[in-house]
Amino acid sequence: MDKQTEFVLRTMEERDIRFVRLWFTDVLGFLKSVAIAPAELEGAFSEGIGFDGSAIQGFARVYEADMVAHPDPTTFELLPWRGPTQGTARMFCDIRLPDGSPSFSDPRYVLKRAMKKAADMGFTFYTHPEIEFYLFNQPLVPGEVPTPVDNSGYFDHTTASAGTDFRRKAITMLEQMGISVEFSHHEGGPGQQEIDLRYADALTMADNIMTFRVVIKEVAVMHDLFASFMPKPLQDAPGSGMHTHVSLFEGDDNAFYDASAEFGLSKTGRHFIAGLLHHAAEISAVLNPSVNSYKRLASGGEAPSYICWGQNNRSAMVRVPMWKPNKPSSARIELRSLDTSANPYLAFALILNAGLSGIENAMELPDPAEDDVWSLTDRQRQAMGIKPLPYNLESAVRAMENSELAAQTLGDHVFDFFLRNKRAEYEQYMRQVTPYELRTLLPTL
Ligand code: GLN
Ligand code: MG
Ligand code: MG
Ligand code: MG
Repeated sequence: MDKQTEFVLRTMEERDIRFVRLWFTDVLGFLKSVAIAPAELEGAFSEGIGFDGSAIQGFARVYEADMVAHPDPTTFELLPWRGPTQGTARMFCDIRLPDGSPSFSDPRYVLKRAMKKAADMGFTFYTHPEIEFYLFNQPLVPGEVPTPVDNSGYFDHTTASAGTDFRRKAITMLEQMGISVEFSHHEGGPGQQEIDLRYADALTMADNIMTFRVVIKEVAVMHDLFASFMPKPLQDAPGSGMHTHVSLFEGDDNAFYDASAEFGLSKTGRHFIAGLLHHAAEISAVLNPSVNSYKRLASGGEAPSYICWGQNNRSAMVRVPMWKPNKPSSARIELRSLDTSANPYLAFALILNAGLSGIENAMELPDPAEDDVWSLTDRQRQAMGIKPLPYNLESAVRAMENSELAAQTLGDHVFDFFLRNKRAEYEQYMRQVTPYELRTLLPTL
């Protein structure tokens, strides 16, 4: 038994833990959980816990259904909202097939495989997300426009508002679970919040994002509120994105940093961005996976609609933030298209492999966009070689269908399932006759 496993078993005893929840994520990015009694834990470590994979979105076909969840002892944490005594702990799991091989449909494995490839090239992949979401009053009535908890805007100091209290409690809980928070503030929309997590390797961060969603939802319920990560819940207010800062390290050195280069951005960093731009359209269905995602991308509000990069240009899809010149470790690039409805494991795997393909193929980076690319005409953008991101889920699915990179990164099973699922989602959406059509078309046609 390794040290970490021993530590978990000892903590279970010492803290008198009542339940252990085993967590994993389905292909669509939803968290799955099974609680086991403490007495089962040793067995879970040695043999795993079997479950029916065909009942999980995207995991298996019925004839190959048996899957086994193996808890990862390094992810052991107590759930703070379950209280200090007779508490509940959780661990993320790796999913394996009955023969012990990793499951082809486990999103965690998809990301591990991409990170292994990066490691073979000498790189570790770090990410830090800025997570935006809305806080709405209860009761939330399905189908009706929700009411935000406040009317404040960007960076507003809200005196003892529900939002301030909420952020304080949420951040405390995140830190109790080992997730460091760097910044938090009110965002641009009414009731909109942002919490930025301190950087970590991409696997830890994907786990953290899954935990983050649960914590935020739990704390909201405690305040009699509803938290939503929907990309564009309010028609006339900005959407919620998950801008993600990424960097590659070679040992202790930041591979994106070169003091003598323009913007301090190394050749490796330039190739990485070039790869991201090159593959942006074909990975969009995973980074922005819902029909609603494209309403955020289409409506400005500092969400990108065009495939381009720039230094400190907030209309660009990739931004190179100003770095502290004396702090090479902070050199990074910010990808602004991603939203929080994405499966973070799959999204990070695709972002990483897109960037690595830029490095492997020494892709040339086009000139940065200096202007506000929204205010240019289509012709001007064309002349500059700036293409739009897919404008809806269907066009994103079409771009992904032909993607060698997406098929290889996700593996055939996840790739096929994902496309099938998203095609069906779009078809279902298209069958809707919306209030907008009834309002504008019915009276005149
Ligand atoms: N809410 C914006 C988006 O959807 C971002 C706003 C900001 O962080 N400046 O991307
Ligand atoms: Mg921010
Ligand atoms: Mg923001
Ligand atoms: Mg940002």
